[in-house]
Amino acid sequence: MQTSVTSSLANWLLSADPKQRLRIQRSLLAANVFLACCGLQAYAVWMGFMNAQDATWLSGAIVANCLLWYAVLRSGLNQRFADPALTLPQILAALTIIIGAYAVTGPVHGSTMMLLVLVLVFGVFNLQPRGARIAAGYTVVAMGVAQGLMMARDPVNYPFKLEIVHFLLTAAIVPTISSLAAQLSSLRARLQSQKDELGQALVRIQILATRDELTGLVNRRHMMDVLHQHRKRLERTGHHRFCLALIDLDHFKRVNDTHGHGVGDEVLRNFAVIAQKALRDTDVLARWGGEEFLMLLNDTSTEQANVGLERVRDMIAGAPMSSAVPELRATFSAGLTAYDCAEPLDACIERADRALYAAKAAGRNRTAVEQAPAPASTSTPANAAPQRQSDAASII
Ligand code: GH3
Ligand code: MG
Ligand code: MG
Repeated sequence: MQTSVTSSLANWLLSADPKQRLRIQRSLLAANVFLACCGLQAYAVWMGFMNAQDATWLSGAIVANCLLWYAVLRSGLNQRFADPALTLPQILAALTIIIGAYAVTGPVHGSTMMLLVLVLVFGVFNLQPRGARIAAGYTVVAMGVAQGLMMARDPVNYPFKLEIVHFLLTAAIVPTISSLAAQLSSLRARLQSQKDELGQALVRIQILATRDELTGLVNRRHMMDVLHQHRKRLERTGHHRFCLALIDLDHFKRVNDTHGHGVGDEVLRNFAVIAQKALRDTDVLARWGGEEFLMLLNDTSTEQANVGLERVRDMIAGAPMSSAVPELRATFSAGLTAYDCAEPLDACIERADRALYAAKAAGRNRTAVEQAPAPASTSTPANAAPQRQSDAASII
């Protein structure tokens, strides 16, 4: 209960979107340092290093700056920009405040230089090389201007001899950080492109592992996985019965022998496209090997499955199978059976194969159905041999 309240509060304050949350957290991390500086200013005022009015203005600017970025990030306004982290604007605003602090902190102004470095280090994580150059150039120029002004206005606290050292330090350190940021940025870009390439390679490997190259259908290995999943679902739920149909193109060798292997390949591809169109979305067609296909027909009886098969048969019979030989037509024979929960998948596939053999023997271009065997009687011993299937398949 307490965790859910804490996490809803965190979602409300920091956003539930992980990317937005990270941006807000980074901005708040920087805000923490700045708000701590407000405390240090109070100390500087107390010690007489700073006057109270300057400290009030500076603390006001710090708080306003923190609130501004929190509001922009939390409202999602930042997402309209090319860099939704708004790294460069946040860094330029912070640098401006620090350079302002440099100008009003009198005898302790040197300590503010550490903050300059800290802000630029934040940029190292996110800035593009161009942004890093802009931040570095801005820092050096703005510091130079602030130092020039302060040397003229307050030469006691900002003596030329000290300011020249500060300026040289800034001019040496800031561009170094900027170049580190640029190097990290190109490293990030390289890592990102490697990650993209790996992602694409993974997709390619997945396709190669699960699809048949010629037809684009599910391949035999993946079809076995699909069948196992369906079998488990049926065992678990008792619903979603399915049928298997083993399909073999008739006299396909003749197609190859008469028209060439290229036309044979085209017939296989066209068969796959047409058969898939004729099937329901939930049915799966796999290339089982050569000119054989295995069809998984979901949530159906053999009678209904046969209606689907006849739809495929009609569409195949009427479709030109090769652009090179427009008059070429194809027919197929099929062996159809229903999966029975209690049997191994191989037994079901073997039954479909036997039915296919029967369809071929009966003259091709037809479907033969072999029903699943009747459940074994309860008196059968556990180690008894499985019952034989019916000998004859019904030819449709
Ligand atoms: P049946 O009606 O008895 O099935 O006769 P069939 O000619 O179709 O059967 P058979 O098994 O004798 O021939 C199958 C042919 O399918 C032989 C083989 O060259 C061809 N084949 C197998 N795979 C491919 C393939 O990927 N592309 C092409 N073009 N032909 C293939
Ligand atoms: Mg064959
Ligand atoms: Mg054949």
